[in-house]
Amino acid sequence: MASKASYRKHCEKVKAKNKAYRQAHAEELHAYELKRSPIRIALQRKKRQADPEYRRKVNEEVRSRRIAARLALIEKLGGKCVRCGFDDWRGLQIDHVKGGGTKELLRLGAGKVYRLALENKDGHYQLLCANCNQIKRYEEGQHNWLGGRIRIADPAC
Ligand SMILES: [Zn+2]
Repeated sequence: MASKASYRKHCEKVKAKNKAYRQAHAEELHAYELKRSPIRIALQRKKRQADPEYRRKVNEEVRSRRIAARLALIEKLGGKCVRCGFDDWRGLQIDHVKGGGTKELLRLGAGKVYRLALENKDGHYQLLCANCNQIKRYEEGQHNWLGGRIRIADPAC
């Protein structure tokens, strides 16, 4: 076949051209990957359901990637709570300095929020421990237990 013979002849040239294309169209290719074929997604789901070992392996990979991304972001944001200095990553949360984090998360999704937080333009994000984050929410009137049906009186009042 002419095309295979041609490929063998120009193998390195073709590989370089393909690599250049992938680099030039990285965003498009990434977007395409995100919109993967529903058939492929269904087949992968079926495989995960049928094979517990494969499911365990996939879950472990996903968990590892999420933890690695989280650790990278925590390191980028200073590695400790900006209020009290608590530094155990398991209890640290990414806080939106000006609020609106839940709405942003729902609007953009976790991946996009992580990328924005990594850039952290204008210091929009900071690290708080779970306690300081909850206290900040209370101080700023953002707490909303049970959809606002429960109001806890401030003992200082
Ligand atoms: Zn704290």
